[in-house]
Amino acid sequence: MPNAAADAPQADFSSAQIARFFAAESQRFRATHPRCAALHAQAQRHFLFGVPMHWMADTPAPFPLFVDAAQGARLVDADGHEIIDFCLGDTGAMFGHSPAPIARTLAEFGAQGATTMLPSAVALEVAALLEARFGLPMWQFTATASDANRFLLRWARAITGRPCILVFHGCYHGTVDDTFIDLAEGGGTRMRASLLGQVHDLTPTTRVVEFNDSAALEAALAPGDVACVLTEPVLTNIGMVLPEPGFLQTLRALTRRHGTLLAFDETHTISCGPGGYTRADGLGACRTLGVESENVPQRGQFLPDSPPHGATMGQEAGKKWAAAAHSQPTIPKSDRLLEPDMLVLGKPIAGGTPGAAYGFSAEVGARMQAVKAAAAPGHSGIGTTLSAGLLTLRLMRTMLAEVMDGPAYARMFTTATRVAEGLQAQIAARALPWSVTRIGARCEVQFRPTPPRNGSEARAAFRNDLEAALQLALLNRGVLLTPFHNMVLACPAHTAQDADTLVAAFADALDGLAGA
Ligand code: PMP
Repeated sequence: MPNAAADAPQADFSSAQIARFFAAESQRFRATHPRCAALHAQAQRHFLFGVPMHWMADTPAPFPLFVDAAQGARLVDADGHEIIDFCLGDTGAMFGHSPAPIARTLAEFGAQGATTMLPSAVALEVAALLEARFGLPMWQFTATASDANRFLLRWARAITGRPCILVFHGCYHGTVDDTFIDLAEGGGTRMRASLLGQVHDLTPTTRVVEFNDSAALEAALAPGDVACVLTEPVLTNIGMVLPEPGFLQTLRALTRRHGTLLAFDETHTISCGPGGYTRADGLGACRTLGVESENVPQRGQFLPDSPPHGATMGQEAGKKWAAAAHSQPTIPKSDRLLEPDMLVLGKPIAGGTPGAAYGFSAEVGARMQAVKAAAAPGHSGIGTTLSAGLLTLRLMRTMLAEVMDGPAYARMFTTATRVAEGLQAQIAARALPWSVTRIGARCEVQFRPTPPRNGSEARAAFRNDLEAALQLALLNRGVLLTPFHNMVLACPAHTAQDADTLVAAFADALDGLAGA
């Protein structure tokens, strides 16, 4: 049931207060970033909105931060400021900028060819490393997670012969037009208004339901025409929406029952553990301090039933969260390993260079081979020239074998926990009706007293002016967050001091807002 308190009007800062504070912070940014301003002015001649990729202009600052260099958890901007980076390229640099093994791999192999359009032995090593972590035996590589999702959906439709896909309201899976469909306010679905240049109506073939709504999911799958459900195991692109206990298991059971493939997009949730959320969830790793996910859970390894939640905290739930955050992980019996048919990885897995992968079961692989063998020769619409290149695979091998390891995750979870607790303490001290949610190395502040249960609740909590004011204030205090929401990512190079600097900057920003 919707929580009445969560839906009540919020009382924190007035629009006028936010506007005054934002104006002062904008002035401060201008004064301290003359070279960024000059570069941005010059860049108008060459680039849309003065940036080489148009989203880079989506910043709360009056102009974007131009970056000179990035190392570990630090950026240096064109004006020479050192910034603690909790954005980490929106997960592309989840394990820090240029970790030493990646720099070494580039130096060692940079002169041995980047791309040949031929297979290599290193591809086999990468597949073995991926199977050990994610449990899926078969893999294909792409340049981006967007491509991986696009190709996965194409395969799913091809092998099932079904036209439809299903996604959850508020999802984001990259530039995959079929997933740009939302629930419409008056019922039904509609194309996302922001999608440019798509002239075909994709609503007849994309079903959308709310996350955590098992009944709607069952109804949408019942006609038997859905090839694939594509979802993040935790929605991370609309604020953060955790699965309710048992929801993912229900999703798995329903997709099996209706002959629908289940694909988890772990592009972001790889920050939950070495085997992503899919494998961390079985041990409750994402709901606790989480260092235990150093041990990749094995199938059938379960502990007794216990209260499964603990990674969220709102004002009322704060005490409960704090206790749970320090408790040992336990597995509810129902929380079986999730066993998706397909799984997507991207962003950080090639050390922040373009590279992504999708894995699938042997059974799905056999069906793919059969459908391709039976098809007319020629372009399949799946794959791109620069996919599975030699250098990309070497970088993936290094990331999987040397960087994305248990101790790295342990450090990330420790920092993220310190940040989450620190932010929550500041929120509680000011009695603000906001909540903090953490999974693994990722946490999110949402402007509602309890964490949202679905995409609609999460979207209703958006406060663009407040978010922009806070983000800009943090940047002026030397801390960068991801621009689209209040997400904090912790990498292995972050220190306790970095976490404390973030929390202190947040507290200072709140004081500034209150006094504006
Ligand atoms: N899947 C998810 C869950 C994402 O959040 C994103 C990007 N934010 C993508 C896929 C697409 O990644 P890319 O932009 O690297 O293709």
